[in-house]
Amino acid sequence: MSDSTLHATYAGVSRSAAEQAAALQLLLARTAADPGLALALAQIDTTEIKGPLDTAGLRASLAEAEAERDMNAALAERHHRRALAGVALGTSCACGHSAATHGPRLTEDARLPCRHDDCGCDDLDFS
Ligand SMILES: [Zn+2]
Ligand SMILES: [Zn+2]
Repeated sequence: MSDSTLHATYAGVSRSAAEQAAALQLLLARTAADPGLALALAQIDTTEIKGPLDTAGLRASLAEAEAERDMNAALAERHHRRALAGVALGTSCACGHSAATHGPRLTEDARLPCRHDDCGCDDLDFS
């Protein structure tokens, strides 16, 4: 590598490190003044985030977190109902379809409707 290439490489790395430092200084200043923002930033799992934290990146991460919340809430509800009914894993709903055929997400009123065409079962029921 020539001296001028090395110079350009170090200068470029230095510039992007300076941009990172400026961004982090801004966040430190803002979080010092806003405990809610500090808490929110501390709770973000940066290992789950790919790409920049711009508006599009934040919206994508929000959608992913909400989907994970809802799908796992539905799984928890499925297992909770199964435990309450005292039936084995793999037991079907009263409608005859598997628990997995029922909502992958809870409805707003906490139901797990059957997704099988023309079934009409509006909530997973092991009884
Ligand atoms: Zn059902
Ligand atoms: Zn069904």
